Amino acid sequence: MRDDILEVLISEEELQKKIADLGAQLTDEYAERFPLVVGILKGSLPFMGDLMKKIDAHLEYDVMDVSSYGHGFVTSGEVKIEKDLNTSIEGRDVIIVEDIIDSGNTLKYLTDLFRYRKAKSVKIVTLLDKPDGRQVDIYPDLAGFVVPDKFVVGYGLDYIERYRNLPYIGVLKPEVYQK
Ligand code: 5GP
Ligand code: MG
Ligand code: MG
Repeated sequence: MRDDILEVLISEEELQKKIADLGAQLTDEYAERFPLVVGILKGSLPFMGDLMKKIDAHLEYDVMDVSSYGHGFVTSGEVKIEKDLNTSIEGRDVIIVEDIIDSGNTLKYLTDLFRYRKAKSVKIVTLLDKPDGRQVDIYPDLAGFVVPDKFVVGYGLDYIERYRNLPYIGVLKPEVYQK
C-alpha cells in the first residue's frame, strides 16, 4: 500500500506534535465546560482518537455521518445525514472534529444545523484546511495544517475507501488513479 504514495506531505511525527498542541489549547478552553466532541465519519476517526487523548477535560463524544452528493473528486453543495447523533446538543458546547475542510459545504450545513438545534456554542476543529477549495464562507476555529489544492490521503482520508490507515498525509502516484 505504501508504494502507492508519491510524496509524504505531513509526517506522522508532525501530525502527533500538532495534535498535542491542539489538545493543549482545547484543554485550556474546555477544562470546566464538559463539551460534546462530534466526529464526522469516517475521515475524522484517527484524528479524533488521537486528539481526545490530549484533552485533559471531562467530555463526551459522539459521531455523525454525512455525505455530499457527487462522485469522485467533485462535491455538490447538497449534504445528506447518513447517521445522526445519539446525543442531544441543546445547551451543549459542541466541538466538531473534521478531517479536512475543502468546499466548506459539509461544515456550513453542520454549523447551521447545530445552531438550529440550540447548541450553546459550536467550535470547528479540523486537521487540514484547504482554503483554495472554498465555495462557501466558513472558517475553522482551529486547524492543524493548511494544505494545497491537491487530493490528499491518509490518517483517515481515503481514495475509494483505501489509504485511511496510513499514519501520515500524502499524495498518491498518478498511476493509482488509472488502475
Ligand atoms: P467539503 O464539504 O468541505 O467540500 O468536504 C469535506 C469532505 O470532502 C472531507 O471531510 C473529505 O471527506 C472530502 N475531501 C475533501 N478534500 C479531500 C482530499 O483532498 N482528500 C480526501 N481523501 N478527501 C477530501
Ligand atoms: Mg469528512
Ligand atoms: Mg472520502
